[in-house]
Amino acid sequence: MSRIDLHLHSTHSDGSLRPSDVLRLAEKARVTALAITDHDITSGLPEAMSAGEELGIEVIPGVEISSFDGRSELHILGYCLDWKDPLLNERLGTLRASRHRRNPLIIERLRAAGLDVTYEEVRALAGTESVGRPHIAQLLMQKKYVSTAKEAFDRYLAEGKAAYVARELPPPDEAIRWIREAKGVAVLAHPTWVKTSGEGLRTCVTELKEAGLGGVEVHYSTHSKSQTASYLDLAQRLGLLITGGSDFHGVTKPDIEVGSGRGDLRVHPRLLAPLKEAAARL
Ligand code: AMP
Ligand code: FE
Ligand code: FE
Ligand code: ZN
Repeated sequence: MSRIDLHLHSTHSDGSLRPSDVLRLAEKARVTALAITDHDITSGLPEAMSAGEELGIEVIPGVEISSFDGRSELHILGYCLDWKDPLLNERLGTLRASRHRRNPLIIERLRAAGLDVTYEEVRALAGTESVGRPHIAQLLMQKKYVSTAKEAFDRYLAEGKAAYVARELPPPDEAIRWIREAKGVAVLAHPTWVKTSGEGLRTCVTELKEAGLGGVEVHYSTHSKSQTASYLDLAQRLGLLITGGSDFHGVTKPDIEVGSGRGDLRVHPRLLAPLKEAAARL
């Protein structure tokens, strides 16, 4: 049964596998097309594309940008964008810089809690400019302070926990504009992160559409059947594209596999053409 996967992370942000290794897993999972959507960075795309050519998998250029609407942290995926665009990459660079301002503050809090960790260790482990909390979680795992990334988030790193520090994030309309100006289609990732439901969710997504949003990630590893149905209904009512992906990260989300998520994810290949057509119209 062929499938696609439009949400995957690699070592270029907080995933634990190189782009070419993600592609190899995709081939095994019979994924025919995919998007590498690293946080705030496009540097993994050349390796993904050459691996895609080798393995006969179509690689859609992608990125995932975190934003904050005053209430919820919203992640905006960008697809089919001109990923070499200098202005886009300069803008993504400002987001990575905000990570480097925030992460040492998280480390300070962990040290205050008695954990022997430094930001240099995190940066060495990450090996990329897009350093995120999952890298800190990985260091805590390596040092045996926790046994899983989930435990690191639950005990220290999640919102409201002792080492949580908020990051300066752009509003979602700005993230959408950056993607649009790079000729990409902007899609709301994992809509469960929107901290309102029902009418509030519809209002939020309607406003995002007015700002240029093109689609909603209806199919996602952790969505229940009823969540998938309600996001599908919302996307259809608002005339937005339907996308989907696993949000594979490797070791920091060990229950999620490329292509199949927690086992029951299947993003149909027919969703790809409308996305590419929308991008071609921009
Ligand atoms: P950051 O980009 O540094 O704010 O870190 C957020 C990232 O951490 C998300 O994009 C997820 O990849 C990851 N994440 C968030 N919550 C958890 C969790 N409970 N367990 C594992 N990874 C998580
Ligand atoms: Fe992530
Ligand atoms: Fe995300
Ligand atoms: Zn993601």
